[in-house]
Amino acid sequence: MQELLAVAFAVSAALSAATAVLAWRRREATPAATALAGTCASLALWSALTVPAHLDLPPAVHLWANYAVFPGVLGCVVGLYLLARTVADPHHRPSRRQAAVLTGVPALVLAVVATDPLHHLFFRSTGYVGDPAHFSMVFGPLFWVHTAWCYGVLALAVAHLVRAARRAPTAIRRQVTSVLASAAAPLVGNVVNISAPGLFAGQDVTPLCFTVTALVSARAVLRQGLLGVVPVARAAVLETVADAVVVVDDGGAVVDVNAAGRAMLAGARPDLPDPVGLPASAFLSPRALGDLPGGHARYGIEYVPGLHLDVRVTAIADGRGRSLGRVVVARDTTEQVETRRRLEDQLALVERLRAQLQEDSVRDPLTGLHNRRFLDGALAAALADAERDGTGLGVLVVDADRFKAVNDTHGHGTGDEVLVAVARTLAGGVRLQDTAARTGGEEFVVLLPGADAAATRQRAEQLRAACARIDVAAPGGRVRPTVSVGTAVHPGDGVDAASLLAAADRALYAAKAAGRD
Ligand code: GH3
Ligand code: MG
Ligand code: MG
Repeated sequence: MQELLAVAFAVSAALSAATAVLAWRRREATPAATALAGTCASLALWSALTVPAHLDLPPAVHLWANYAVFPGVLGCVVGLYLLARTVADPHHRPSRRQAAVLTGVPALVLAVVATDPLHHLFFRSTGYVGDPAHFSMVFGPLFWVHTAWCYGVLALAVAHLVRAARRAPTAIRRQVTSVLASAAAPLVGNVVNISAPGLFAGQDVTPLCFTVTALVSARAVLRQGLLGVVPVARAAVLETVADAVVVVDDGGAVVDVNAAGRAMLAGARPDLPDPVGLPASAFLSPRALGDLPGGHARYGIEYVPGLHLDVRVTAIADGRGRSLGRVVVARDTTEQVETRRRLEDQLALVERLRAQLQEDSVRDPLTGLHNRRFLDGALAAALADAERDGTGLGVLVVDADRFKAVNDTHGHGTGDEVLVAVARTLAGGVRLQDTAARTGGEEFVVLLPGADAAATRQRAEQLRAACARIDVAAPGGRVRPTVSVGTAVHPGDGVDAASLLAAADRALYAAKAAGRD
């Protein structure tokens, strides 16, 4: 039995030492590795110094080893505490007060242990008992104070791990839970050892139980489980990306929200408490929580007025394909959306201006009637229609009578007013399919598609009469203009634009010569 225990402790020491080295080499990759290395090194010391207790050695060696284990014991407790804190929160750094307690109390305990032969407050007595005889000790009051402190520290460590396990995403929760389970073994061993010393023939098996911790940790280190618990790089990326990231577990509860996500929520939903632990439906849209065909979904929403998001939802599963929940990544696209909107507005404005410009290019600015450019096109089209359909086409050339005199008597402004009045009269006196255009200073042309000679003459007379009723108030008295009209009809007076207009012009001169109006 004694030899077996000696071998067990030696193996425990070797495994712990190996794990310590392994973890120490990985200390750059993760902060948890340093605490793990310290814990395992202390455990190696503790186990190694427990080996002599099970060998037939001089009593002085037993006594010395019995005292010498305490740096290992205390290192193990402090190491486990720091390991738990770093696993629970990769960014954890002990505060100055924490550091003082975690180094000061062990130093005090070691001083008490070192001076124990003088006061026996730690071990009331030490010596050989039983048959076969083994080294044993009776605990003194300060031993119990030290034990209580150690349990207090370990209880705190466990509390931090439990809290981390509860808040961690499912995948990480499993790893934190395995660390918790591995920490339970030495706790159980130590409780048994202190409360029932006879169970293992008075042997302290606590360090042996710690071997379980070392093995679990070693497996974790080798297979990247434990050190994966603190995927520092990933966590750092998650915390620094501008995208909001929300992790939802399979039960629909929010288990993680990164810094950008918290900031976005604080702005958009100030009514919400800490989002972690809330049902995801409290702030995620039904689309984010709906079916994920192919494991993905992507859509854009206006999350709250003025906040546009591009949302991507991805299902997450463990190694065996069991669903763990989903990750919702939201990118603020408000700027792009608003830029696009502005661009669309500007495009619409440009299109309106272009249409306006096009319209302006065929209009006369003073009267708003179509201009010569438009008339040319309209006349060509009307001629083509008349040719095709064999219908008539009436052309009127309208010219204001003695208009120079209007300008000379009443001023150019009044002349303009008279021109506008004539234009309005012409436009109001024709049908929708007719065209009235201002072709020169006080000269207008009216096209009458479909009109024969009689209809053309009739319309000319109507327009002349209407213009004769114009009455414009001017500074030097009222202006009552008249117009003369020359007419031509397709095909009788001409079959092309030039001959038709020339015929109408000739008729106009004839009208002028015949006394105007
Ligand atoms: P007639 O009866 O023989 O046509 O005599 P008239 O005075 O109307 O003919 P004339 O061609 O000699 O004069 C036309 C006048 O129209 C000359 C010009 O000052 C005036 N006019 C041309 N364009 C404009 C314009 O845009 N506004 C004003 N107010 N007057 C114009
Ligand atoms: Mg004229
Ligand atoms: Mg004239």
